[in-house]
Amino acid sequence: MTGKGIDRIAARVRRCTLCRLSKGRKHAVPGEGPCPAKIMLIGQAPGRNEDKTGRPFIGMAGKFLDGLLERNHIERRRVFITSVVKCFPPSNRVPKEDEVTACNSYLESQMRLVNPKLVVLLGNVAIKTVLGEDCAKGKPVRRDDILFLPTYHPAAGMRFPAIRRRMESDFSQIYRHLTGRRPKDL
Ligand code: URA
Ligand code: SF4
Repeated sequence: MTGKGIDRIAARVRRCTLCRLSKGRKHAVPGEGPCPAKIMLIGQAPGRNEDKTGRPFIGMAGKFLDGLLERNHIERRRVFITSVVKCFPPSNRVPKEDEVTACNSYLESQMRLVNPKLVVLLGNVAIKTVLGEDCAKGKPVRRDDILFLPTYHPAAGMRFPAIRRRMESDFSQIYRHLTGRRPKDL
């Protein structure tokens, strides 16, 4: 079930003009998933396909992410998925610091409402924005009773086999952290 508060944030994001990214977007991408949710995934910014549809992680990186979730016994429909900035940066460039700052209150409100136990940070922009520093990937960080798992961005995992292997290993931690069991104990 999607709660009222989270819908209100999505509605504000869709008409937001707080930063220059509002000018080039077709659709803002607030994120989607149940609220509350045990797991929250945070990416960098919507890509072209997401901009076209208004939905998070539905392009190639999204398909790769779907595979990671599936292989690790996590149902995508049970996860809240969003990104640091909610609008497509022109030419898919990295979001600028002032854009991240402008957008941050949406992410903070979403995190408060979703109230996750585990937050997967997909790539450096998410890691730096949420944790305030560059943290080692693959090493969970506990803060305010939330476990943060810094890892790579799926777009990188998709392209580079070594990163893909690191991401597989990072995602295999999720199930264990949440249940105290390994998937094969099911
Ligand atoms: N990268 C993101 O961070 N989010 C998306 O929705 C797609 C790619
Ligand atoms: Fe608003 Fe965020 Fe989109 Fe900028 S990126 S216009 S702050 S929703």
